[in-house]
Amino acid sequence: MRSTQRVTLSVAVVAALSLAACGDGGSDAESGPAPSFSPGTTMAKIAERGSVKVGTKFDQPGFGLKGLDGKPAGFDVEIAKLVAKKLGVSDKKIEFVEAPSKVREEYLQQSKVDFVVATYTINDKRKERVSFAGPYYVAGQDLMVKSDETVLTGPDSLKGHPEKKVCSVTGSTPAETIAGYLASPSQLVLFDVYSKCADALRTGQVSAVTTDNSILLGLVGESKGSFKILNNTFSKEPYGIGITKGDTAFCEFIHGTLTEAAGSGDYEKAWKDTAGTIEGAQTPQLPTFESCS
Ligand code: GLU
Repeated sequence: MRSTQRVTLSVAVVAALSLAACGDGGSDAESGPAPSFSPGTTMAKIAERGSVKVGTKFDQPGFGLKGLDGKPAGFDVEIAKLVAKKLGVSDKKIEFVEAPSKVREEYLQQSKVDFVVATYTINDKRKERVSFAGPYYVAGQDLMVKSDETVLTGPDSLKGHPEKKVCSVTGSTPAETIAGYLASPSQLVLFDVYSKCADALRTGQVSAVTTDNSILLGLVGESKGSFKILNNTFSKEPYGIGITKGDTAFCEFIHGTLTEAAGSGDYEKAWKDTAGTIEGAQTPQLPTFESCS
């Protein structure tokens, strides 16, 4: 075949494939008939596109962990799937984008993702750049240490042991909160993701890792007995779904979706299938939402 013919043929094939992809009106057999939304809303745009980009974590067992099959799994991933499904988007049309703590606001502001479900604490500083739906879960900051650690018993024991370094993640609320408990800023070691903190604890470069108990429980479970959580929480971390700042219609839509999921048992199932399988995890009740703004 001559090269011009080959090009013409492949253009025709691509066109036919795209027509086939569009032909289902942005929905497919798995997600049922396409829902209809007010024109111009985020919901309408996503439903029409038939696909969605979601920022999540890839290294947090129980909440967002990318497996060998390349697919992330966890409670956050299931929450994202519930929202996508209500938009008429099936699981296979969700593109999960790794969103480490520091880049979550940036990704939303730059429209790299449609929404973020990533152990993402709602707070006023972040609300200057993004909005949140939820909370859909409330965690608390804690410390994880090696199983044979006896000196560190909670955040208050850190100041008296400046040689014991503590690890957290850049751009996270636990990294900010722990600062008030340290002998000096150099006692804190920061990485971009928590799996690197777990590695540093394993190799003895740090003596503790601090973040939400929800994340630490997953890392303890993965450690096969090498790590323990101190079970001494010292903050409240309400997890929200990050959306574009001021998109109140999308926020209300997500609230409706979560409320329905709690009523149908889908919320509880999402938990039980994921984070709920980790030892020490307790089934949550859907918290009272903040108002959308
Ligand atoms: N929930 C906290 C935060 O949003 C810590 C967990 C994380 O870094 O994702 O900063």
